[in-house]
Amino acid sequence: MTDKKVALVTGGSRGIGKACAIELAKAGCDVVINYAGNSEAAEKTVEELKALGSNASCYKFDVSNQEEVNEGISKIIEQYGRIDILLNNAGITRDDLFIRMDAEKWNAVINTNLNSAFYVSKPVVKLMMKQRSGAIINTSSVVGLYGNPGQANYSAAKAGLIGFTKSLAKELGSRGIRVNAVCPGFIETDMTKNLPNLDDYLKAISLRRLGKAEDIAKAVKFLALDTDYITGQALEVDGGMII
Ligand code: NAP
Repeated sequence: MTDKKVALVTGGSRGIGKACAIELAKAGCDVVINYAGNSEAAEKTVEELKALGSNASCYKFDVSNQEEVNEGISKIIEQYGRIDILLNNAGITRDDLFIRMDAEKWNAVINTNLNSAFYVSKPVVKLMMKQRSGAIINTSSVVGLYGNPGQANYSAAKAGLIGFTKSLAKELGSRGIRVNAVCPGFIETDMTKNLPNLDDYLKAISLRRLGKAEDIAKAVKFLALDTDYITGQALEVDGGMII
């Protein structure tokens, strides 16, 4: 047990999730990260979090599998006793033009990026309702607001997360639980390392650079810890790509 705030970051071993985990640890949280398969990356991140004074640990479970999620979250609650911040961040892409997109690609993205938020939030919200406090942040995307060719599955999942965010915010506000989304633009991570036509994207971004995972982490920390009166919002963090 601990008196520090406890944060759970799904997909917290790499990329945006890792940067958020580090930012929350720097702000004094005990941070639990979840990941899918790359144990080496997860363990390395845990070491970095511990070096910041966080009582950190990692849990491997597939966020698209409700049974695995329930088992993982029960163990986390057993270990930490509470969860104050939940970042639903784990996500994948399986891009293709709609005409070529098969059900496998559609379902993989909807299950991992959208159904996961339902599975993970369910047991966590129950706990937060007992605590009468909590902050949930869902990692959506600008493409959930504006669409993107080749990403019908991903855009649908990310748009779904925004509706989910707003509905939960309305349901849970009276219980002291805030729910927000962040909508990153193009951020330098493994997910975007093979982005074609980079120059075209850069021309469209007012700040003329891709975002860094740390840019998202600052917004997540703000929504999680620095405000008590923002809920139901989808905050775009895209360097002025879409204004
Ligand atoms: P990333 O570098 O590919 O990292 C993905 C993370 O999610 C890893 O920790 C991975 O674990 C985990 N993960 C993937 N599938 C999982 C599953 N089924 N169960 C549990 N964990 C799983 O991705 P990223 O770029 O940081 O993206 C993070 C989030 O931001 C995603 O939701 C993404 O859609 C969103 N986003 C990213 C961008 C961007 O430009 N990068 C823009 C907008 C939104 P393993 O290491 O074990 O595989």
